[in-house]
Amino acid sequence: MAAPDEAGWEKAVAALSGAGEVVLACHVSPDGDAVGSMLGLAHALRRRPGTRVFPSFGEPFEVPASLRGLPGVDLLVRPEQVPTAPALLVTFDTGSVDRLGSLADRVAEAGEVLVVDHHASNTGFGTVHLVDPGAPATAVLVEELVRRLGVPLDADIAACLYAGLVTDTGSFRFAGTTPATHHLAARLLATGFEHDVLVRELLDTHPFGWLPMAGAVLARARLEPAEVGGLGLVWTEARTAELAAHGLGPDQAESLIDLVRTTREAEVAVVVKELPHGGWAVSVRSKGRVDVGAACTALGGGGHRFAAGFTSHAALDETVAELRAALTAAPRDTSSGARGVIVASRSSEATIAPRAPWGKESGCR
Ligand code: AMP
Ligand code: MN
Ligand code: MN
Repeated sequence: MAAPDEAGWEKAVAALSGAGEVVLACHVSPDGDAVGSMLGLAHALRRRPGTRVFPSFGEPFEVPASLRGLPGVDLLVRPEQVPTAPALLVTFDTGSVDRLGSLADRVAEAGEVLVVDHHASNTGFGTVHLVDPGAPATAVLVEELVRRLGVPLDADIAACLYAGLVTDTGSFRFAGTTPATHHLAARLLATGFEHDVLVRELLDTHPFGWLPMAGAVLARARLEPAEVGGLGLVWTEARTAELAAHGLGPDQAESLIDLVRTTREAEVAVVVKELPHGGWAVSVRSKGRVDVGAACTALGGGGHRFAAGFTSHAALDETVAELRAALTAAPRDTSSGARGVIVASRSSEATIAPRAPWGKESGCR
């Protein structure tokens, strides 16, 4: 989908301006961008008298420990308590209806469906679209929406949006980060929330049991240099029982991919996470030469070019075999100027800042 134009923004503002009751929903197993974007807009809407908000996400309704410190988590309502036929539904960071899980039925029942998202794989569902695959996070779109609604940024809104921005840019390291991203971060920080506390909870805090669990998961990582057309694959799996043995819930497997993807010898990194009720949620990252979003979309999932995922109900071996084949077939750039190779060219808002001397490193979520 193309980035929103002026008419798109006006339609979105009009839909929100008339609404007294708004259901907000983000994707299942939500991350910082999903919940942060949703709560950021929820705070802004609540600033207007007479607006009731119902922010939620589909079962299992477990708020990941890393997100429990976000201002407004107490506003979240269980999916079964979400009105069944809302006049307005707003979805966040959700590329397709099925990613809403147990809230997916609200899409057909709602009067208007405003879709705020940045997934390249967005299917175009909904009636009003703020979808920009060029945005490094959904939170970026929400900030502009809040501005256009005439609601001033406050510390609660800003903390939620900052959570989305930090999560999806990999702490401002991934390719989608531009000078504008840093300008936005500066505007958010200026509201005065404790960004260090927020980000420590978000990214740098685990229960002690996480250390031996991560040790075991990393110890069995397989390096397959011949895969992905010779660019290399590294993968491992995380088992539910293994997490439970260390007193950990499924959300504690999410950050493992950020360790696995540091492998120099592999272009593509994968963590296959066992789901509590069977099947696998697969996280896939590339350093910038392989379109893993295309590979995951081909396997029924989706995501971005360099950060994507899919769900599998096949056995582990079969799941990885299907992924190897999809990665072999995925669009790839092996030219010397491809991302991952250090080059001295990059064009992004050169009027604001000089060109960075590095090639882009990785994708965003
Ligand atoms: P994750 O590996 O779960 O952090 O997800 C990386 C990116 O892929 C995110 O943008 C997700 O929204 C997307 N993604 C992950 N799993 C799926 C799936 N089963 N279907 C569609 N998109 C997915
Ligand atoms: Mn997300
Ligand atoms: Mn996102």
